[in-house]
Amino acid sequence: MRNLSCLIPHTHKKKSNWRAKREEFNQSLRYAKKVTEYEKEGKDLRELAPPPPTQNPDLVPCPHCGRTFNETAAERHIPRCQAMKTRPPPMNTRRR
Ligand SMILES: [Zn+2]
Repeated sequence: MRNLSCLIPHTHKKKSNWRAKREEFNQSLRYAKKVTEYEKEGKDLRELAPPPPTQNPDLVPCPHCGRTFNETAAERHIPRCQAMKTRPPPMNTRRR
């Protein structure tokens, strides 16, 4: 396990920020989980609600759909998302 905190220069932050950061982090984790579920089930990611707004610099934005993910999720998601975009959606997603 890498210790990322030693790579990040110490900055002066507001004390009350950790709570918001933590909540934001939890939200993005939940969201990334949902995205993974969708991908596993072969669902169309466009049906998924947009991600919660975030200011977290640790998150990696996907260049294809604009969603942000934590480092691990982004590594998995971005190639898949690219493949999804370049390939037409499967027939069975069409439903009414
Ligand atoms: Zn994407």
